[in-house]
Amino acid sequence: MERSARLFVVSGPSGVGKGTLVAKVRDDRPSLGLTVSATTRPPRPGEADGVSYYFMDDAEFSRRVSQGEFLEWANVHGHRYGTLVSEVKRNLSAGRSLILEIDVQGGLNVRRIHPDAVLVFIEPPSMEELEHRLRGRGTEDEASIECRLENARREMEMGESYDVRIVNDDLARAAQELERTIDLYESNGGST
Ligand code: 5GP
Repeated sequence: MERSARLFVVSGPSGVGKGTLVAKVRDDRPSLGLTVSATTRPPRPGEADGVSYYFMDDAEFSRRVSQGEFLEWANVHGHRYGTLVSEVKRNLSAGRSLILEIDVQGGLNVRRIHPDAVLVFIEPPSMEELEHRLRGRGTEDEASIECRLENARREMEMGESYDVRIVNDDLARAAQELERTIDLYESNGGST
């Protein structure tokens, strides 16, 4: 079957498990391209520069914004995050589909530049379950949890304009649905 490289955006509220989900899909499909975002957020324990993110200070981030190095960038939870044009070009020109795991504002900005990008929103089974997962993660303090829950409500509304929505109730099932989505859009070339 003829397949074309596509740009997939995966968004969803913090704590919904999109990182784990995307990691599983990448394990199943090593041919998917990988991009590393830039951020002004400080690294968490165990996060390495150039692997989890390119960590940089505000001045460096601003310099890259003014030089047009970002495909999109957004303020998320009080820090700046952005997708580097170079990372996306490198993959698409090598014929590799890729998944950008970015926030909803970023996803909608990507759609403006790449109207054929496929926007996939990952939903929690419920807001109660999301709160439970965020607290269970133990990486955020109370203020940060409150901020992420508030953002989550807004993101759920903005996510309504996404092309595909997947409920992450079960990792294996949700991963299968995401993989089916990738297959579908890779094989129907061009149309969103
Ligand atoms: P975290 O701080 O938990 O790693 O990520 C917080 C949020 O930033 C997540 O919703 C994640 O999807 C988003 N994010 C990560 N990289 C990017 C990026 O390059 N652009 C945008 N717009 N959002 C990003």
